Amino acid sequence: MTAFHTHPDPILPYGGRRHVHPHLFVQALRLREVSARYPGSSAPAVRGVSLEIPEGTLAALVGPNGAGKSTILKAVAGLLPVSSGKVEVYGLSPGGCHHRTAYLPQRGEIDWRFPVSVERMVLGGRFVHLGWFRWPRRSDFAIVQRVLERLGLTALAHRQISELSGGQQQRVLLARALAQGADLLLLDEPFNNLDVETRADLRTLFAELRNSKKTLLIATHDFDRPEEEFDLVIRMRGGVCEPEGAPA
Ligand code: ADP
Repeated sequence: MTAFHTHPDPILPYGGRRHVHPHLFVQALRLREVSARYPGSSAPAVRGVSLEIPEGTLAALVGPNGAGKSTILKAVAGLLPVSSGKVEVYGLSPGGCHHRTAYLPQRGEIDWRFPVSVERMVLGGRFVHLGWFRWPRRSDFAIVQRVLERLGLTALAHRQISELSGGQQQRVLLARALAQGADLLLLDEPFNNLDVETRADLRTLFAELRNSKKTLLIATHDFDRPEEEFDLVIRMRGGVCEPEGAPA
């Protein structure tokens, strides 16, 4: 935002001016008074949620079970339509840049018995870039190899996903999102059912991704003092965001 104010001319993000990196001027994620309701449900699951997350932020969405954390992630990912309000991802409506957002469900929501190798699962992240009937190209496989290496998964590339530990499963989900080229990562309870050491490894990895300008929004109830672990903490309860500074 500062760059916007210090520049002599008004600059419109994604507008007519060239030579300007559009990301400098937009939030990775902005919600304005978002409400969302599940089909067949009479009451909205989240109501009037507003928030802003700058690019390159490690953000936590915290709150007790049923607070609405997953619902917000699903609404941002476009898996659940918002009934009112507005979602902007990098300044655009989510459909305008869907490959830039990746939703990583809770590991328990995935059938890990499905017979597929780690490499194939990560390659799935490339399919959003392929048209109908297009086969992945050499460049897609190269991206997958790079991502596997970055996440320390190269040795597991040919392993079946059914044989992975919880921490490895979480890395595979991340690898798939990175292979997709996503910049905004929405993670639902990634720390669930992991031992202390694996959680620490995962936190290091999240910080590295944040340092490389990825934006992470992590729904979690695993931290007593999330402020010590995250750049930004958004608290929810009963489907609404709690005001900043509200008691934990
Ligand atoms: P959290 O992720 O914080 O535990 P959720 O977003 O899953 O909370 O849930 C918010 C509210 O939406 C809860 O009241 C929950 O019962 C309701 N809810 C969640 N999933 C569904 C669904 N598929 N259909 C109807 N209601 C749902």
